[in-house]
Parts: sequence; C-alpha cells; structure tokens
Amino acid sequence: MPLMDPFGRAITYLRVSVTDRCDFRCVYCMSEHMSFLPKQDLLTLEELDRVCSVFVDKGVRKLRITGGEPLVRRDIMSLFRSLSRHLKAGTLDELTVTTNGSQLARYASELAACGVRRINVSMDTLDADKFRRITRCGDLGRVLSGIDAAQAAGLKVKINTVALKGVNEDEIERLMEWAHGRGMGLTLIEVMPLGDIEASRLDQFLPLSVVRARLSDRHTLDDLDERSGGPARYVRVKETGGKLGFITPMTHNFCESCNRVRLTCTGQLFMCLGQEDAADLRTPLRVSEGNERLERTIIEAISRKPKGHDFIIDRRDRPAVGRHMSVTGG
Ligand code: SAM
Ligand code: SF4
Repeated sequence: MPLMDPFGRAITYLRVSVTDRCDFRCVYCMSEHMSFLPKQDLLTLEELDRVCSVFVDKGVRKLRITGGEPLVRRDIMSLFRSLSRHLKAGTLDELTVTTNGSQLARYASELAACGVRRINVSMDTLDADKFRRITRCGDLGRVLSGIDAAQAAGLKVKINTVALKGVNEDEIERLMEWAHGRGMGLTLIEVMPLGDIEASRLDQFLPLSVVRARLSDRHTLDDLDERSGGPARYVRVKETGGKLGFITPMTHNFCESCNRVRLTCTGQLFMCLGQEDAADLRTPLRVSEGNERLERTIIEAISRKPKGHDFIIDRRDRPAVGRHMSVTGG
C-alpha cells in the first residue's frame, strides 16, 4: 500500500538533495557568495540510503538524486551503488539524477552500471561566454563532453533549460534543434521565486506561453497526453521528431497530480516545493537504529501534504519561499 496524502494522491516519487553545494553559481539559483551548510549537519551517505530505503519499502517507485550538484558530493557513487539493489530487487522502477553535467565525463559509465537509465542535464545556452555568465563559473565544453560520455554509456539524456528573459530567449529554438538532433528531449522551465539572489526575478521571468507561441510560428507542436508523473507537459515537435516539455509553475498550477516529496541533505522532508512546512527525519533517524520511528514520522508528514503551492513573483521581488532551489533540490 503506497503512502497516501489527504487528497488521495499516492506518493511514489522521492527527490533527494544530497548536498546544497555546487561548482556553479547559476544567477537564478544562487547568489554569488553563498554560505553553505556545515558538513556535520548533512546526513551521511549511509543515512541517506536508510531514508531512501524506507521510502522504497513504503511504495516509492522512483528516486531522483539532486542538489546542489549531486555529483560533487564526495563518494556519491557509493550511494548509487547501494540504492541500485532496489532496482535489482524490482522494488524500485527508476533511479535517476539531475546534474549540471560538469562531472559526467567522470561518472557516466558508473551511473549506467548502477542501473541509471535516464538523466537530466541542466543547460541554458550553447554559447560558451553566455554559459559562463549564467553559471558564473561553468565551462560549457566540459558539460558537452559530459553529455557525450553519458550518451556513449547508453544513458538517455534530457536537457533542462530555464527560460530567461533577454538572456537565452533568442536561443531556445536552436537549443531545441540541437537537443532533438542528438536524440535528447528538451524541457523548458519557468523561473521560480526560491531564495534570495542578486538579480531580480521579475527581470528574469519569461512566461513559457510566450516561448510556446513563438516556437509555434515555425514548428508544429502536437500535444502529448503523457505526464511522466511530473509537472511537465509535453509536445512532439513534428519537424524535429523530438519531445519538448514545459514546466510552468508560475503560469499553470500542476499540483493536482503531484506524486512527490523532497528530502534535503540535512534530513528535512518537504511535502511541497512551494511551502515552508517540513518534517525533520534526521532526529528519528539518529535516535534509534530501528526504522519504526522514522516510518511513523514519514507517515505523519505525508498526512500534512498541502493541496498545492501559490507562487507569485512578488512586485517587491521578495522570494515566495526563502530556501534556494539548491537546498530543497530541483
Ligand atoms: N545542480 C543540478 C542541476 O543544475 O541540474 C541539480 C540541482 S538544480 C537546483 C535543479 C534544476 O533546478 C536545474 O535544472 C535548475 O536550472 C533549476 N533551478 C534552479 N533554481 C531555479 C529557479 N529559481 N527557478 C526555476 N528553476 C530553477
Ligand atoms: Fe548549481 Fe544546479 Fe543551482 Fe546551477 S542550478 S547553481 S548547477 S544547483
């Protein structure tokens, strides 16, 4: 019997942020000088495995490892290796990761060996200078080599691109053609008001309805029914044959089909990306070696999952939620 929330939604998807640290400082995600959590506050990789395994026991079928940049956490492959036992046992359908791609050249084949089949790589531009400006320190060439390595290892790659007004809006068609030409899906994301950053999100925000209308001028976008258990809506682009996704938290609320919860690297369980309520799993994890208390805490937390979020980009440009995306896990 899977975990059920008060609105009858089965919770079958857990996203786990394994670190709040990152080797990039994307302008919409982080401020230039971030203070990161002290390492002793983090769950150990063994503790992360324990929590994930309890969720799998309770019916979670999909785990996504994210961050921060998950692949910069030391010895992260040991977590993938241990979680892969649930894939082998048939109790987990999918183990996957969202990454900025900087470490992929190094880890792609190990990820594939752990049973990872599909990954998401975040990339907002194909222009190396612009890439450095958006990420403040990222090297596009390295990410592209990482994508090559992932495809060579047999991983299916989906590209995630945040649509940024005046920054990459003129490039979206090119990004789509590039991704589809390499057999990769592309999903566009609207900027969400999460955490303080230097830039103004009102300046960054580009509604995807606008992007979609522009793409439709030169492409035929056929709606697909599939929802992949996530917030994206997909179309098939007739001219390229590829899939294009739209994640529109700001202009379209997708909460009614939400099947997920999120665990932070310190063991806070967030039932909704856009709300402040969280349950502490680190204490029950640490007070006893048995999992009974942890299980009870999880069940109680799910019973408080809210109906939805109500993001708005505030005119005074305050974040709707104080946490950065890198803390809750994108
Ligand atoms: N570092 C990894 C990466 O960039 O893929 C994983 C974590 S990152 C927080 C996950 C996703 O969240 C990325 O695709 C990123 O572009 C997106 N993201 C970060 N901050 C965001 C924001 N304020 N609004 C919308 N998407 C955001
Ligand atoms: Fe790092 Fe990902 Fe946030 Fe960019 S979006 S700063 S890569 S965590």
